[in-house]
Amino acid sequence: MSFAASVLTLYPEMFPGALGLSLAGRALEAGTWSLEAIQIRDFATDKHRTVDDTPAGGGAGMVMRADVLAKAIDHASPPGDERPRLLMSPRGKPLTQTRVRQLAAGPGAVILCGRFEGVDQRVIDARGLEEVSIGDFILSGGEPAALVLLDAVVRLLPGVMGNAVSGEEESFENGLLEHPHYTRPQEFEGRQIPDVLISGNHKKIAEWRRAEAEKLTQERRPDLLAP
Ligand code: SAH
Repeated sequence: MSFAASVLTLYPEMFPGALGLSLAGRALEAGTWSLEAIQIRDFATDKHRTVDDTPAGGGAGMVMRADVLAKAIDHASPPGDERPRLLMSPRGKPLTQTRVRQLAAGPGAVILCGRFEGVDQRVIDARGLEEVSIGDFILSGGEPAALVLLDAVVRLLPGVMGNAVSGEEESFENGLLEHPHYTRPQEFEGRQIPDVLISGNHKKIAEWRRAEAEKLTQERRPDLLAP
C-alpha cells in the first residue's frame, strides 16, 4: 500500500517541486508514494473563477471561500476516504516527528494550502480540517509548508531511506538533538577529528555521542529535556 498525497492549491505547478528529486523523487517514480496536485480554482462557480473574497467585518487582504474549498475537498476526499485532512496554517499545532511518523504509517493525506489571509473558518469546521504549522513564522502560502511536511513523511516510508538505522538516530527520534558528525580528512584547517571517534572503541563512541547530544540539547533546546 503506498502513501497517497492529494494537495489542494492555487499553484499546482509548485508540485512535486523539490520532491521530484533525490530520495523523494525516486520513491515517487517507484510508486512508494503518489502525489496529486489539485487546482482549487477548478471548483469555482462564477465566470471569473473567484476563490476568495473580502473579510467579513472588514480589514486587509482576502479570505479563501468556504464553498469553493468544500467542493475541492469533497472531490479530493470523497466519503470513505480514510486519509486525514490537513490545513497548513500558522495557527495549527506545530508539526512534530511523532505526527510525521503517524502520518507515514497511514494511508496518506489530503493537504489544503492556504493563500491570502487564510481560509473561511466554516470550511475548517465543516470538513474537520486538522491545522498544522511548520513553525512560528508566516509564509506567503501553504505550499512550501506542504512540501516540508511531505518531505518529512516520505523519507520514512519503507524502502525510501537506504540506511534505515540512520532514521532512528536522528535528532528528535530519542528526544535529543543529534551529536556532531565528522568525516575525512583527519585534519581540516588545524582541527582534528575527536580522538574517541577514531579509537575503534564502540562503547566509548556511543557514550561520547550520547554525552554530546545531551550537552547540545541542554544548550540549544532545553525545552526538549523538560518533563
Ligand atoms: N493571516 C494568517 C496568515 C496567512 S499566510 C495568520 O496571521 O495566521 C497564508 C497561508 O500560508 C496560510 O493560510 C497557510 O496556509 C500558509 N502558512 C503561512 N505560514 C505557515 C506556517 N508557519 N505553517 C504552515 N502554513 C503556513
